[in-house]
Amino acid sequence: MPATTYKNLIGGEWVTARTGSTFQNLSPANHDDVIGIFQASGAKDVDAAVTAAAEAFKSWRLVPAPKRAEILYRTGELLTRRKEQYAREMTREMGKVLSETRGDVQEAIDTAYYMAGEGRRLFGQTTPSELQNKFAMSVRMPVGVIGMIAPWNFPMAIPSWKLFPALVCGNTCVIKPAEDTPLSTFNLVQTLIDAGLPPGVVNIVTGFGPDAGAPLVEHPGVRAVSFTGSSEVGRIIGQTAAGLFKPCSLEMGGKNAMIVLDDANLDLALDGAVWGAFGTTGQRCTATSRIIVQKGVVKEFTKRLVERAKALKIGDGLDESIQMGPQVNEQQIETSARYCEIARKEGAKLLTGGRRPARGAFGRGTFFEPTVFGGVKPQMRIAQEEVFGPVVSVLECRSFDEALEIANGIQYGLSTALYSRDVNHAFKAMRDLEAGITYINAPTIGAEVHLPFGGVKQTGNGHREGGTGALDFYTTWKSVYVDYSDK
Ligand code: NAD
Repeated sequence: MPATTYKNLIGGEWVTARTGSTFQNLSPANHDDVIGIFQASGAKDVDAAVTAAAEAFKSWRLVPAPKRAEILYRTGELLTRRKEQYAREMTREMGKVLSETRGDVQEAIDTAYYMAGEGRRLFGQTTPSELQNKFAMSVRMPVGVIGMIAPWNFPMAIPSWKLFPALVCGNTCVIKPAEDTPLSTFNLVQTLIDAGLPPGVVNIVTGFGPDAGAPLVEHPGVRAVSFTGSSEVGRIIGQTAAGLFKPCSLEMGGKNAMIVLDDANLDLALDGAVWGAFGTTGQRCTATSRIIVQKGVVKEFTKRLVERAKALKIGDGLDESIQMGPQVNEQQIETSARYCEIARKEGAKLLTGGRRPARGAFGRGTFFEPTVFGGVKPQMRIAQEEVFGPVVSVLECRSFDEALEIANGIQYGLSTALYSRDVNHAFKAMRDLEAGITYINAPTIGAEVHLPFGGVKQTGNGHREGGTGALDFYTTWKSVYVDYSDK
């Protein structure tokens, strides 16, 4: 069967890119499985999409927020019905196992319902005026056309975190999905359309970062930019947006620490470590990549972690018995392999994994073995830089205070976890770990959509996705004074 060709969505029409170029995506678990042909768009396509979004903004901003919310509510219902189909397509497209892609779709469903509720709130403020016969209030106004640039690791959840709050607040959108996972964005946006979203309110332009993403950031019609991806690309986008005085939300990389103290429940900590390090094949911004273990339990913990890593069943995530799928593409495999080489040269001890399995061992795909390094020191590159693969480092510490110092001694600050039975340590960790998220007795992964999500330091620039924090990015405050003295 010939592969399906997907077009850009501009002003409610499906159109081919003006560049005349396309690209083909293959399943990372099985290179014989063609996901589809997608448009390799350029600046002219972005311009057409932004123009359509600006036109749609004129009427969408006037739709009452509770009515905009009804579309999100219906989107949640339709996604629930389509969950299994979309999860399967996401596993084919991106590689993570079915239980995780079901979770990814579920996160979009939860976000749809949560943000639908916000449509009946979107609270402003009334404030006493200094003057008699004067009424003062602040109201949330939509920003305008929002440019959205997404990564591939949560191909439906992350676009939903951007689109749903933006829409309920009355904005229109142009989204550029990651080049590896456009199909899941098409599924999400098709659901919005089926739920009644008017033409032009959401537009999709597929393509590569410098060709389709950069013009979106630069376009004068785009009033704000929401980006999730690597710190490297985030820095470029942030600098461009700053030069244009454009609000820009940056959600970027992580190097997330899990601390395991001598008094921890080791069974619980091991479950958390395995899930945190190897879930989504280590390709989560919140992945557990540094495990800081107190010296009384480090030997036993490490031995059991290696056993668990070796026992993981690897393969095509469409098979329900598989626990870890492939990495998303060849480049990610090369990055994992390169960091394993760096770690070895730095003197870290490879305890298991560290390479691609023999060709064909798990099918024709981009697989990498679950990898554990021991004897890692805090300043090694393997302990400082994001790998974004199934590679975890174990670092030994003498005390809780030293563990905090190691955990905080990096440029990133997304997620952290502490395993301990001591409530004092738990509260100190909550206070002292420099990160946007701290889990106690749970792994570094597993965010819930109604809480603010984002990081500090080089992980983010202060904005938050999820929760009411998202509304702050997608609205702008307007102060209104009504003088009713009638003189
Ligand atoms: P990436 O930075 O390579 O790409 C992200 C997006 O940016 C893609 O759509 C890409 O096409 C686009 N892009 C690339 N160059 C661009 C440019 N010059 N101008 C405009 N757009 C451009 O990241 P990725 O490989 O897709 O995702 C992995 C990264 O995302 C990891 O670093 C991970 O930690 C991070 N991430 C962060 C969060 C978070 O919320 N903090 C969540 C998920 C992923």
